[in-house]
Amino acid sequence: MDEKNNKMEKIVSLCKRRGFVFQGSEIYGGLAGIFDYGPLGVELRNNIKQYFWQKFIIEREDVYGIGAAILMPEKVWEASGHTELFTDPLVECKICHERVRADQPEAIVEHEKIHKNEKKKVEWTEATTFNLLVGSKLGASEKTATQVYLRGEITQGAHVNFKNILDSMRPKIPFGIGQIGKAFRNEITPRDFLFRQREFEQMELQYYIKPNEVEGKKQYEYWKQFAFDWYLGLGFKKENLRFRQHTLDERAHYAKDAWDIEYNTPFGGWKEAWGIHHRADWDLKRHSEYSKIDMSYYDEGTKEKFIPWDIECSGGVDRAFLFVLLEAYREDELGKEKRVYLKLSPKMAPVKIAVFPLLKNKLALVEKAREVYKNLKKEFGAVEFDDNGNIGKRYRRQDEIGTPFCITIDFDTLEKKEGVTVRNRDTGKQERISEKDLISYLKEKFT
Ligand code: ATP
Repeated sequence: MDEKNNKMEKIVSLCKRRGFVFQGSEIYGGLAGIFDYGPLGVELRNNIKQYFWQKFIIEREDVYGIGAAILMPEKVWEASGHTELFTDPLVECKICHERVRADQPEAIVEHEKIHKNEKKKVEWTEATTFNLLVGSKLGASEKTATQVYLRGEITQGAHVNFKNILDSMRPKIPFGIGQIGKAFRNEITPRDFLFRQREFEQMELQYYIKPNEVEGKKQYEYWKQFAFDWYLGLGFKKENLRFRQHTLDERAHYAKDAWDIEYNTPFGGWKEAWGIHHRADWDLKRHSEYSKIDMSYYDEGTKEKFIPWDIECSGGVDRAFLFVLLEAYREDELGKEKRVYLKLSPKMAPVKIAVFPLLKNKLALVEKAREVYKNLKKEFGAVEFDDNGNIGKRYRRQDEIGTPFCITIDFDTLEKKEGVTVRNRDTGKQERISEKDLISYLKEKFT
């Protein structure tokens, strides 16, 4: 295994060992492309989602947050073009009948290698198209059950509510609808851990504007940069992110223009993290046609009626999660000991502060540590109390889950009233801070 793939393996193993991510339904052999998030994973995910909600919705006057349903009738997906066009090219191995995405050279090469080792030469079938929508039926009787789809993108939840937002919120154009939620795709080859899953979460903004080329260009550039700056704020080095424009044949059926923000991954170079799409009037026009409900907007100022254009920012929560971990992963030597740590920004860290009594069996130390823990928890929320094992072991665990600060209560805290020790995750250095200054000291570090 080369060093680069090794990093991904290490992340997968850390995620399981420390309670970030588990294979879905693991005790039954797992389900390909499906993952469950553990206690620390859920916190990191929430931090990513909260940061999205804060920047794209809360801090803006012109964006409305919604929470649309996962199940949607077939008609929605006919209107959006997904039943017909949401496909990937598929080829089948004539030896073992495994199906692989035809436009993923890594998957093809990987599969050919398996048969090469068996001294066989792979032949592939002609490429066919495969629809990625995951369907189901709703209703108690076979006859009357309705065909539904688990949404293939959360986008349509915003578009089908466009009229509801107009009528209930009376927004002035330009304005946006933002949401976070699960999406489902029957990916032919789920791979690369959280990167390509069959169930995943998206965070999206649909921003509705006047249908005008100049306005379209301006808004498109604005949201491209906004999404890039947001991504950087997760804690990435600028050189590990880049923009890439989709080529014409790569663009989704709805896109007038499309750019990705890509992350330089160790498992295959630059990969899509986020998409910014100029969807123009594709969705609203089609929904007007298929639902027979007029989706146009009436501009009181200019007395014009039109179907707005839509600029979309669409990012994956799980990909952001994976990329944040890959970016933060570090190995170094502290003193004479090797260690692994996650250099997460305090905003992302699932645990912000850990509090330890130096010894577990000295009641006075434990009581004091519990008091400090309670006070910090009131202030900072995600604070952990830990008295398991020796102090070195506790530091190792906190380093591995990316906790920025560990606080130890020792005999000098009690007897000499010398305050507590605060250990910095990145340098391993410890400082003594008086109890009364502790909260303001930590607050300053977190800003
Ligand atoms: P790809 O080309 O990698 O298949 P896409 O262009 O189809 O992705 P979009 O439809 O633009 O993806 O979806 C928006 C975002 O949703 C992506 O940027 C990505 O972060 C996330 N996403 C899409 N598919 C998956 C998946 N199978 N697993 C995890 N996240 C995904």
